[in-house]
Amino acid sequence: MEEKQSRLLRLTLKGGQARVFLCDTTQMAQQARDIHHASNTCSAAMGRMIAATAIMGANLKSEGDRITVTLNGGGPAGPMCAVAGPDGVVKVTIEHPEVELALKPNGKLDVGGALGKDGQLTVMRSFGFGEPYVGRVALVSGEVAEDFAMYYLESEQTPSLCALGTLVGERILSAGGILIQAMPGCSEELLDALEIRAELFGSISQLLEEMTLEEIVDSCFRGLEPEILEEMPLRLSCDCSREYIERVLLSMGEAELRDLMRKQNGCEVTCHFCRKQYAFTGEELAKLIEEASE
Ligand SMILES: [Zn+2]
Repeated sequence: MEEKQSRLLRLTLKGGQARVFLCDTTQMAQQARDIHHASNTCSAAMGRMIAATAIMGANLKSEGDRITVTLNGGGPAGPMCAVAGPDGVVKVTIEHPEVELALKPNGKLDVGGALGKDGQLTVMRSFGFGEPYVGRVALVSGEVAEDFAMYYLESEQTPSLCALGTLVGERILSAGGILIQAMPGCSEELLDALEIRAELFGSISQLLEEMTLEEIVDSCFRGLEPEILEEMPLRLSCDCSREYIERVLLSMGEAELRDLMRKQNGCEVTCHFCRKQYAFTGEELAKLIEEASE
């Protein structure tokens, strides 16, 4: 099967009365499923998270800015976390990617059941310098899209329509999402027109399976003067390195490191996002302990 490059479109409607982010992240969702050997339900959860976080990342201004989103609902799949930058690079992880639940009565994957809804969605924006900005909202359903819509409403006071979807078969058939935000001064007429389309976007994964992003824009926003401002390539990639893992180990402190040394004479650290393993021999640990003690 030919793999579509993941990408995002940023557009406005009616001369800027509303803005829209629309992305196809099918290929990234497949990659995340492969990396984490994820169940169908957890693949769907990560597929939705990738799209939502990529959209937030596309809103960042400067190169070094990062958005880190954590959805912690107390469900059996554990917390899920994703990080994105303004360059379209996203990484994602979920604590128990193997967790699988029975389909819901409507035949859909039970993402909310796997993630749980007793908890919070936390969004941290970190900039190249200074304190990060942290926003938090209580989860609505753990189905991801509703939780993000609540975040935009409560934390940013922006009424938003958010739809995210992942169609899972033998492979990921489609994944992606859409965010529509009314800007101050948006006309009632446009709000009504968007309301009518909300149901259509409820099946965003079907739309993405059948159409390109441009075709979706043409057919869904006909009459609303859609204007595409930017097209951005997206990809799933991790920026971890041995130096980064060393810093993490150093941050544990001398006592913890000595403990590791005594128990196993070395250690292996796995990156949560890409599952890459970094091995440290006893000798290398001893060096780090020396550094930590300084
Ligand atoms: Zn990594």
